[in-house]
Amino acid sequence: MDILSLVRPNIIQLKPYSTARDEFKGVADIYLDANENPFPSLYHRYPDPMQIKLKDKIGGIKKIKAEQIFIGNGSDEAIDLLIRAFCEPGKDSILIAEPTYGMYSVCASINDVAVKKSLLTSQFQLNPDDLYSKIDSSLKLIFLCSPNNPSGNLLDKEIIMELLKQFKGIVVIDEAYIDFTDDEGFIPILSRFPNLVVMQTLSKAWGLAGLRLGMAFASEAIINILNKIKYPYNINSITQQIVLEQLDKEVEKNKQVNIIRQERERLVNRLIQLPIVQTVFPSDANFLLVRMANAKSIYNYLMHHSIIVRDRSSVVLCQDCLRITIGTSLENDQLIEKLILYSESN
Ligand SMILES: *Cc1c(COP(=O)(O)O)cnc(C)c1O
Repeated sequence: MDILSLVRPNIIQLKPYSTARDEFKGVADIYLDANENPFPSLYHRYPDPMQIKLKDKIGGIKKIKAEQIFIGNGSDEAIDLLIRAFCEPGKDSILIAEPTYGMYSVCASINDVAVKKSLLTSQFQLNPDDLYSKIDSSLKLIFLCSPNNPSGNLLDKEIIMELLKQFKGIVVIDEAYIDFTDDEGFIPILSRFPNLVVMQTLSKAWGLAGLRLGMAFASEAIINILNKIKYPYNINSITQQIVLEQLDKEVEKNKQVNIIRQERERLVNRLIQLPIVQTVFPSDANFLLVRMANAKSIYNYLMHHSIIVRDRSSVVLCQDCLRITIGTSLENDQLIEKLILYSESN
């Protein structure tokens, strides 16, 4: 499969911006090449544009070559760059499986790229017949989110593998919540599919949402294209440095993930006992999609009591649903307490 034949011709022809630090990569005594302020401070130098140390570290953790890693200012940067690299505005399209994360269609729309939509089943699984019926020559990217946001479930792996074989474009799997499952995700089978992109983030399980660091894993051909069109210094020095330190705390991350998973189970058991709760959908993520009688009114009641959840009741297939992030044990208790009070007063 020739990835370059899928890329927009103007991107293929583009001569990328070359930074001072792209041209000279060694260590020198005196740097007079980048018009920086010479007086020492923590941040007077530009950061490494290719984030080499960070990629080596992430590669070690994820068991993948540094050359197969793209690092972005959140996953959102990778989503935007993929659309801009592969989709001709006003002509090409992407496909998403709804309900799902909102940024795929927002990024596409900003770039004047059409969004085709396939509805998930009532159990939030892929519908292969419908997916294949949406494939045409304008379709360049398929975005799938697994575990899916807002439903929380893993998507069927067999269906995705078949799609990767059949579809002659790029399949992007967003694994923002993969740490909360026992599933190993798609990174271990990356080498079998040159058209596969796996996205992950440090914003959820790793607890680093404020630092803005998202990752895309793919064949070198795809990673090279993303590197070619990204902003030169897209990851700032502070983020690079702190993330490098934080990635040593994998044991602590795993402990927190285990607690969150235990709390998820406990919260499910508490929720299903409430008369106002109709369905708690099975979750492989750090949140629960919950169908309740009068979801909007419960949302407002909780907000009034200073507890904010996500109202998804106007989203397709999510009628009367709230999306509730798993908090600390104490926070979850307070949520349940308020829901009991609501039940008793209504
Ligand atoms: C939270 C989330 C992300 C993370 O985005 P960042 O920009 O990396 O913070 C990505 N995809 C999905 C589906 C999410 O829910």
